[in-house]
Amino acid sequence: MSFIVAIDGPSGSGKGTVTPALAEKFNLMYLDTGATYRCVTLKLLKEKIAFDDIPAVQKALDEIKIEFKKIPKPKDCKDEHYEPKRVFLDGEDVTKEIREADVAKNVSPVSHIPEVRKAMVSLQRKMSEGKDVILEGRDIGTNVFPNADVKIYLDATFDERVRRRIKQNKEKGIEMSDEEVRKNMETRDYNDAHSDVGPLKKAEDAIYVDTTGKSIEKNISNIAKIIKDAKKKHNRIEESYVMTPETTCKKVRRKLTKWFLAGLYHIFYRIRRSNMQVLNNRDEGYIITANHVNFIDAAAIILLHHRPIRFIAKADLNRIWILHHWSKMFNIIPVKRDTGDIGTVKLVLQGLKNKDVIGIFPEGTRKGMEKGKDIKNGAVYMAYKGKVKIVPVGIAGSFKLFTRVYVNYGEPIDVAKFKTDDPNWLDVATEEVMKQVVKLSDVTYYKNYKKAQREKKKQEKQK
Ligand code: C5P
Repeated sequence: MSFIVAIDGPSGSGKGTVTPALAEKFNLMYLDTGATYRCVTLKLLKEKIAFDDIPAVQKALDEIKIEFKKIPKPKDCKDEHYEPKRVFLDGEDVTKEIREADVAKNVSPVSHIPEVRKAMVSLQRKMSEGKDVILEGRDIGTNVFPNADVKIYLDATFDERVRRRIKQNKEKGIEMSDEEVRKNMETRDYNDAHSDVGPLKKAEDAIYVDTTGKSIEKNISNIAKIIKDAKKKHNRIEESYVMTPETTCKKVRRKLTKWFLAGLYHIFYRIRRSNMQVLNNRDEGYIITANHVNFIDAAAIILLHHRPIRFIAKADLNRIWILHHWSKMFNIIPVKRDTGDIGTVKLVLQGLKNKDVIGIFPEGTRKGMEKGKDIKNGAVYMAYKGKVKIVPVGIAGSFKLFTRVYVNYGEPIDVAKFKTDDPNWLDVATEEVMKQVVKLSDVTYYKNYKKAQREKKKQEKQK
């Protein structure tokens, strides 16, 4: 799973300086997305393609070849501002050309052409595929990688940004008057913010960093701290896909934690359970499907059943240290939502082979049925593939402190009996399983169950 850092912000906010330094520090691939738009602009200018001639623009996009290469300064090179990160357009080194005034003036309108945007976003995603990467741009956190591990929005006052760009141009030997830089920055700011496609705006979950008046080193170290923390969380998610061995130490710690947490559970809730013995056959693995009413309802199953039960839970929970720790201890199976996580399926099937009991919430989210969400058919799929039965479980209760929580276990269902040639058979079977779950999540079910048990006992005594 790649680690992605998104650095967005306006021109001159410091992206171009801090991003390569952070790439080096964390050994990440550096992608300057602005350079990709500059390359398209240069190509259109060179080939004299009008920006509103969309078929010609599209043709240029279909043919364009943009490459980033690291080339150390050649011995005979006299350029004191030599930049080892070189940009190639259709095989030609254009590192300096794409920074010249002509491109700077035109890049904004070009980057707002929807076809250009689409092609560049797709190129940027492709270049980043499977890599640990840091990207700088305008819409990385909002559009290119909305699920990036770290999102930083860099900013600085307008005057400071102009000053920086003038200094940078001088260093790079780019000829532009101070007034030209100021005007260009003004126009680009306006255009970037008012674009219909990929406008510059802070992603809701991005961290705002104001670089005004701070040294480069200070800005780098501030962001480095954020990245370091995110990397730790990212590594925890990676680790969650590797089950730790079942050592005696782990088993003992799990037992003690289970006793302790189950004790707390009993203090805060009046637990009522029925038919738990359906899971007693340890020679068989099962999949439990339950309704999802509260964020601690899985604990009512995991902590209060004597048999180890592993639940599938969203991988992001591992970002929180204590949850990661418990997740490893209880062999929780991580899942990345809405991605068809193959890693999860593999872990489940392996677990079922080892005769584990695995819990799944087919609703996907809390109170999914109530909210009208699509019920996921993964539980039935995996039960079928793993050749195990599904045990439907119904949970009832408000989960207000000191109230009753009911956990009713239903009779195992052999999903193979629903298998037909109908391509929708998984959904049909899921519906049947969920009908049982709904039935079991009713308080009266528990009462009737207990009543029936009492009568059975009475009859046995009479015999
Ligand atoms: O970052 P740089 O100044 O090189 O970007 C050049 C231009 O490319 C920006 O002014 C903006 O119009 C466009 N751009 C964009 N989206 C990005 C990066 C740059 O629209 N992700």
